[in-house]
Amino acid sequence: MKKILTLEDESSIRSFVVINLKRAGYEVLEAATGKEALEILHDNPDIKVALLDIMLPDMDGFEVCRAIRATNTGIGIIMLTARTQEMDKITGLMTGADDYVTKPFSPAELLARVDALYRRTGGASAPADDGVIKRGPFSLNTRNRTLEKNGERIRLTQIEYTIMKLFMENPGKALSREEILSQVWGKDYFGELKVVDVNMRRLRIKIEEDSTNPEYITTVWGYGYKWGA
Ligand code: CA
Repeated sequence: MKKILTLEDESSIRSFVVINLKRAGYEVLEAATGKEALEILHDNPDIKVALLDIMLPDMDGFEVCRAIRATNTGIGIIMLTARTQEMDKITGLMTGADDYVTKPFSPAELLARVDALYRRTGGASAPADDGVIKRGPFSLNTRNRTLEKNGERIRLTQIEYTIMKLFMENPGKALSREEILSQVWGKDYFGELKVVDVNMRRLRIKIEEDSTNPEYITTVWGYGYKWGA
């Protein structure tokens, strides 16, 4: 069963999300507070995707996100944001979320995002691949989905891993933001291109010596990004 956690304190929105996800074949666990959500995740390590509301009675969704990421890099996280939370979107992504959906959202939009992330987090069967890709000081193990730089493990989210794999399979090739979006988030993803930049910024912080003067992930102005190792 494809397990998903929905954290939302407004019961009308939560029911709307739950009904639509169930209809699409997901098993949905529900939480109305951050504390509840963390307990459910602790008891259900097989949850692959979590939807997190931001404004909650006990803690905010970003705190929940950070708490999840502290122990779990494999789960996919989507923030449910209100239209007025433009800056919160960015903050949410920087604290370890993979994507966000802006309220009010349609069932189709929500499902497209959840399905895409579910596939990326390895919920669907992944093709057999046992190679290790080496570029410069980096070594990407595609069997256990880990990255090392000079032999030291760098903890990546599943989205970050997928971006690294795309880069390391295409050294020296300028990749457009549209191409990255479609390769990493899926062809049916209809979110914003900005999500690419936000993830790139976060990835740079993790893998570059100086993220403001990147050596490996370089910007191709007005186009996208290029891997240079
Ligand atoms: Ca709320």
